[in-house]
Order: sequence, then structure tokens, then C-alpha cells
Amino acid sequence: MDLEQRVLKVFSDLFPINRSLTGKGVEETFNYLIEKFLPNSKINSIPSGTKAYDWIVPEEWNIKDAYVLNGLGEKIIDFKESNLHVMSYSKSINKTIDAKELLQHLHTLPNYPDRIPYRTTYYNKNWGFCCKHELLESDKFIPPFKVFIDSEHNSNGSLKWLECVKKGSTKKEIIISTYCCHPSLANDNLSGIVLSVFLYEYLSSLDTKFTYRLVIAPETIGAISFLSKAKTKNIIGGMVLSCVAGPDKISLKEGFNVNHFMNKSAHMAIKQHLNSDYIVYPFAPDGSDERQYSSPGFKIVTPSIHKSKYYEYDEYHTSADNLDYVNPAFLIETLELHKTWISLLETFCYPKRKNMFCEFQLGRRDLYPQVGGTLNQSAHLDSDKGNEYRNFGFNKNIDITGKHLNAFNWLMHLADGSNSNFDIAEKSGIEIVIINQSIEAMFQRDLLELL
Ligand code: ZN
Repeated sequence: MDLEQRVLKVFSDLFPINRSLTGKGVEETFNYLIEKFLPNSKINSIPSGTKAYDWIVPEEWNIKDAYVLNGLGEKIIDFKESNLHVMSYSKSINKTIDAKELLQHLHTLPNYPDRIPYRTTYYNKNWGFCCKHELLESDKFIPPFKVFIDSEHNSNGSLKWLECVKKGSTKKEIIISTYCCHPSLANDNLSGIVLSVFLYEYLSSLDTKFTYRLVIAPETIGAISFLSKAKTKNIIGGMVLSCVAGPDKISLKEGFNVNHFMNKSAHMAIKQHLNSDYIVYPFAPDGSDERQYSSPGFKIVTPSIHKSKYYEYDEYHTSADNLDYVNPAFLIETLELHKTWISLLETFCYPKRKNMFCEFQLGRRDLYPQVGGTLNQSAHLDSDKGNEYRNFGFNKNIDITGKHLNAFNWLMHLADGSNSNFDIAEKSGIEIVIINQSIEAMFQRDLLELL
């Protein structure tokens, strides 16, 4: 199978599973991921009723069946047709009611009458159905209605999340976080799960400097539970994977500190990857689990690269966010972008001159053209390697071009140990690829140390 087929298969295998905060759907999803992609991962769990910071871990919820029968005994809403038909975490119910009472428990989208909305009642014991608004206006909407939900809330259950660690040569850790609580919704957020496993597969094939921890947890309470148990002192940054396979332009939701290397590298990765513009959403404490990671107690900067971001597309949280909405090719595009991002992250360093005084004599180190007067005539020198730079670390053999000479000057000016390679690229206006190659050339000649 080629990559596109493999991506499609994971989407189709996982789409029908009824995921929620807890319960069998989450476990089934984790078991699939462990079997196919993440054999060395660990399922962690926290018992229902446990306090996690200010939250109480909810009861485990499972559902067997749910439907609504109309006055003629016809099944007009059936959980077995779409698991969006039942509000997630609904309690059991079995009674016959009139239209007025049903409407108090029925969620529809009048503006999109052919879509089923996605609704939850996690922290408020209630019951509800979701259906197409057109049903209410059809000749099937005949009272009285028999409403039936066979579900179970287990106070002896637990909440689970999956963790998988790719060890690097240092303990410094980058979190890759995605959530797994949405049932049968493709872009939000099955696409995050699919991206995470293919990205992890890529990471596993590499020798990395940083340690990468993949966390797949139900949104909000799962991230809170993970953080309540995690050792976070080595975590230097993260990324939240969410909504990555829709048809819209690439976008970046920045992490909370625009000067942080996670933000700078995300921008640089997108620019390196795309020839077109992209959408930037400045950080806001909303959205997904960046809310938990960015809280004052952790301050972990976690940007997200999206393709059709939550809140920004009409299909969001409806049955129209389905397998027709996403496209494996879109996911592969964001996968490639995240690979570029990781390869840039791996170069993150603070170059520091070994000797801070005046310029280095570059000529005697083969870092300067032998013919004087050619400087600033880069047309003669420039064999621009452009995007060939794809690997980790720095290129071993580079052709010194006019751009590199310019980069050497900026490095000699800025490499005092307080500016990262990303800062230097930004301040000099030189592409990160050239800056990294120039750092490598100077490092090889013992002119720089890398902090
Ligand atoms: Zn959502």
C-alpha cells in the first residue's frame, strides 16, 4: 500500500468507532494504534472520581443502543446509523413522551437541515438526541415518541490516555499532543490521531537530539490528567495536532509566546515548505489542549499547524465533517510540513563564538573566496542549494555562496550565546537553511560552540 492508501485505511478503520472521554471506543482506538503503529506505547489510566488539579475524573461511559420511535413505531433516529445521534455521555432513558418534551432533548441545526450536530453532556447528567433538522419538518415526526437509550455510567471505571516516547540523545523533551474523544468526526479530530501516528512512524526512523513524547488523550480532562501525573521539567515545547486534513489553506495557531523557538520554527517550516501564503491565528486561550499546556503552572508553548482549523469551517462538529470532507492528500501535506518542522527543531541551538573579538579571519579557514573583490557579487558565487536542506543537523559539505558570507557576518555579530539560530535567521533576514549551513561550517572550524 502506498502512503495515501495507508492514510485512508486508518481514517476508515477508526472513523466508525464511538469515542468519548472514556469507555470502550477509546480503548478500541488505542488497541488499534498499538497493534498497527505504536507497539511500545503505554496506556495510562486514572480512576473515575480522582481529583486532577481542579477537576474530577468523570465516570466511565458506555452505550449499547439508542433510538427514537415515532407514533407509528418507526425508528426515526438510530444510534446504530450514526453515533452522533446520541449526545455523548447521555444517561439511560426508556419512556414515551410528547413532541414538546422530545424537542427539549433534541439538537438540530436549522441552518444546515441535512446535518447531524455533535453534542456532549459530559459534566451534567442529562440525555439527548441529535438529528437532521429536516426530520422535524418531515411527515415522520409523529408523536408520541418512544425514546430509548441503553447506556452506563461506571463510577469504578477510569479515564485512559496513550503515551509513546521516542528517546533522543538528550533528555530535553517535545510533546506531541492530540485528542481522541470525538466520535465519527473526521477533521476534528480523527485527523490529529492519524497525523500523530504517521509522524511518530517517521520520528522512529531517525536519530534525534530531542526526546519526543506522543500523548493521545481525551480533550481537556485527558490533558489535565496527563499533566497531573507527568514529569514536566524536561519539556521545552510542544505541538498540538488538530484539524489537519481539511480543504482550506494551511494555517498556524501560534503558541502563547511569539518569540519562543516553537513558534519561530513553525513559521519557518511553513515558509520553507510552501510557496504560497498561509493564515496566522495569534494565540488565544481557547481551542484545544494548548489551554492546559499554556497555563501558568506549565507555560509549555504548543503551536498548531492546521488545515481547516476548528471554528473556521462550517462542517465543524457536524456529520458533514466526515470521510468525504478530509482527503489523504491533505493529511500527507500536513505530515510533510510537520516533518520539516521537526527537522528544523532538531537544529535548534544557541551558537556562541569561541572568541568574541572582532571578525574571524575567514580566508585562512576556506570560508572566504580566494579572489578578492568578488564579495557582494553573489551571481558568481551563488550555487544556492535552496531546499536541498532536509536532513537533521547541518550539512557536512556546503558550497560557500554570497548568502553564506552574509550569514557569517551576521553570525559573527549575533552569535554571543543569547540568540538562537532561529533568532539569527529572523534578525538577519537570511533563510534558516543558509544560517544553519553557515553555523555548521563555522562549528566544524572550531569557531563556534553550540549551546
Ligand atoms: Zn471538537
